[in-house]
Amino acid sequence: MVYDNVIRSGNIPFPLEIAGSLSAVAHPNHIAYLCSWGFATLPPTCISKSFGVRPFILEIAAVLTIFVLPMIKRKNSQQTAPITAPASLLHALQLPENLSGTFQPTAAEFPLRVNAAFLQRIHPANPDDPLLRQVLPLTDERQPDPNYCDDAVGDLAASPSPGLIHKYHGRVLLLLTNSCPIHCRFCFRRNFPYRDHQLSHRHLQQALDYITAHHEISEVVLSGGDPLMVSNQRLFEVIAALGKIPHLTTLRIHSRVPVVMPQRIDPELLNHLRELAHTPLQPVLVIHCNHPQELGSAALTAIHQLKESGVVLLNQSVLLRGVNDSLTTLKTLSHTLFRNGVLPYYLHRLDHARGVSHFAVNPEKEAALVKSLQSQLPGYLMPKVVQDVAGTPYKAPYYQP
Ligand code: SF4
Repeated sequence: MVYDNVIRSGNIPFPLEIAGSLSAVAHPNHIAYLCSWGFATLPPTCISKSFGVRPFILEIAAVLTIFVLPMIKRKNSQQTAPITAPASLLHALQLPENLSGTFQPTAAEFPLRVNAAFLQRIHPANPDDPLLRQVLPLTDERQPDPNYCDDAVGDLAASPSPGLIHKYHGRVLLLLTNSCPIHCRFCFRRNFPYRDHQLSHRHLQQALDYITAHHEISEVVLSGGDPLMVSNQRLFEVIAALGKIPHLTTLRIHSRVPVVMPQRIDPELLNHLRELAHTPLQPVLVIHCNHPQELGSAALTAIHQLKESGVVLLNQSVLLRGVNDSLTTLKTLSHTLFRNGVLPYYLHRLDHARGVSHFAVNPEKEAALVKSLQSQLPGYLMPKVVQDVAGTPYKAPYYQP
């Protein structure tokens, strides 16, 4: 009816001109606001009197609603689609598209993936940017190294059923998904056979049966991939099923999402976590942040909201050559996290997964760095420096050589 009236009015070009200009610059929320304003400024009787009194305002509002809002939404979704080609990433960062050392990974080689939020945190025109180094595929990944393998941390040998890993006393990991907001080139699960570990309905039930039968298990860690990449509905279903197991006391979520995809932390999720914090299944969220530059205002807002919802917040990082192997960076990271309600938990030494050897920090440099960090940070800001060693029943603490 609105559309017909606009057509009949014969005044389409002028509102369309205004709307066209708006589409180039405006955000969908602004347009939606303008539309509602257009209708709101009309006295109620105008709407029922077939648009006779204020046709111009109605035309603007109608054109914005029918034509411009979908255009802007389409444009925004194109802008927010993850980047999957190195050339596109480099182009977006004003770097040469043929930057030496980069390559296009095949599907089997852990493809590139960078979302819009992480892209925004990378400084343009800097090939050594610490965030870019975490996501840009380099031909170094193809260098064979006998000390690096597909299952560096012994996940497969510790999996009693698909999607379930039981390595340590009292706690198990559930691999909810293989999906991640970004692909970190150093990831220890980059070669993991997710196809064989999809947590289907049947496999989830097997995992729940296993946890139920093992009374010594008190904590379940939701992992992946990134467990916050699943829908709220799926996440809440899994949490509800775990909540029925009486010997579970802690639900831990390992996620990079609050830092690299903060818009995912929506009110529904926050409410659910808030409610969970008042049940016997206490929520703990271990975020993953490697460099203070990752912590933009959107990430910090998400972290504050999570904190306010009653979730215990910890951080884990990986020590990475060319990313965070500096005293200043690691100190700043610990202080920034603490200022925002997150305790530094782990600083992982690099897991020896095939394709990540170029991230290894020289052992002498690593030892000196850990020593300096210990001498300059108060104990509560010093993350535990650990290594995940296949077959070891705990994370092996790092001892100075
Ligand atoms: S988000 Fe986590 S699981 Fe996903 S690629 Fe990065 S480190 Fe690996």
